[in-house]
Amino acid sequence: MTKNHIIYSNFLDYQFTLKKAKGSFLWTKEGKKLIDFTSGWNVTNLGWNHPEVTRSLIKQAKKNTFTSMWIGDEAQIAFANELSKYLPDGINIFCRVTGGTEANEKALILARSLTGRKKVIGFRDAYHGQSFGTMSIGYRPAYVQDIAPLVPQFIQMEFPSTYITQKSEEETLNDFLEQLEQQLKTRDVAAIVTEAGIITGWGSTHIAPRGYLREVRKLAKQYGTLLILDEVGTGLSRCGKMFGWELERVTPDIMTFAKGLTNGVAAMGAVAISDQFPQQEVAKTKTHSTFGWMPVACAAATKVLEIHNRDQVWNTARDHGAWMLNALRQELNGSPTVSNIVGMGMELGITFVENGKTRKPNDALAKSIIKKSFDQGLHLILGENGNIQIMPPLTTPKKVLEKGIEIFVDAVHKADKHL
Ligand code: PMP
Repeated sequence: MTKNHIIYSNFLDYQFTLKKAKGSFLWTKEGKKLIDFTSGWNVTNLGWNHPEVTRSLIKQAKKNTFTSMWIGDEAQIAFANELSKYLPDGINIFCRVTGGTEANEKALILARSLTGRKKVIGFRDAYHGQSFGTMSIGYRPAYVQDIAPLVPQFIQMEFPSTYITQKSEEETLNDFLEQLEQQLKTRDVAAIVTEAGIITGWGSTHIAPRGYLREVRKLAKQYGTLLILDEVGTGLSRCGKMFGWELERVTPDIMTFAKGLTNGVAAMGAVAISDQFPQQEVAKTKTHSTFGWMPVACAAATKVLEIHNRDQVWNTARDHGAWMLNALRQELNGSPTVSNIVGMGMELGITFVENGKTRKPNDALAKSIIKKSFDQGLHLILGENGNIQIMPPLTTPKKVLEKGIEIFVDAVHKADKHL
């Protein structure tokens, strides 16, 4: 018999096979029940296998499952109409794609084509996808050495986080804006790609000082650079608002969405573009996604947006997230290996280091904490950089969150004792 191998890339240490997933819980093939603190990395924000979302997919599957690059479906139009309710005025041209990588790749292509410029600014240790273009925006230098050269003319800046700079918020933001202006003032930068004041991808959980997004918007506009806002992780209530742009009420030129859009029932991504660009200009790049916006995915995504709005899920994320951040800070205060605890809504990050003085990331310790937590019934995930990202389904009952935090804190205290 052939032995098959599925690649779990750098997540092999955390791999297990699922028997069942429901709401805030997962069950392994062996029958172990786990509280989930990952949402599959910001995907199942409404809880795993949400019955209303599944029903909407099935209903659509009975009507029509596929269109094509040139044919539309009512389910796609309904989704675009629903999504645009939550976007800034004037962001109403959409491209149909299958996920976050494709959405960001499309945004990059559009930025070069719409501006006639080549350079793109992104951030080190950010993650925007697994294609050459999206890897050129962020990622970590060590990972791309073997596959270099990436796409030319991409510039990676340091994200303005006070944890990195060890300076005040004001100084951190001002220094960053000065460096950004140096880059932009040559007027040859097509776009800056960023999340809404946070890095949610690739395990970094860096948070920018307040005012970051507004100031970036101002500078980009001044020098004719487009602002691409990656909402793949921040969107769908994760950071305490339906979408991240609302945190500072900034209107980007291009926005990208994926992950939580369908709550995990189907692959889907979206690019939303400002109507300052004529539709023919947007269409002229001539690239399409055969499976972008499958009608089943669109029906599910429309329902997902309705549920977020009906249940005001972002308020729960904001309140429960604030409670969790506070609880973690109190409980882990004084731990010699925890060097940073940050959060925005229910996107939290706890950074483990070898010791508080060197701040050298300690992946081995973080992994041992994840293992101990798993044994006690809590599912966690580590990107890298010693940073465990906590991203529970936003609908997780408070009592379950409390239990999860208790297991996690206990695992950290036990690990600290063995130092
Ligand atoms: N942007 C961000 C912020 C992400 O976290 C990710 C995935 N981790 C992506 C883009 C890429 O999305 P996908 O995996 O759907 O290609």
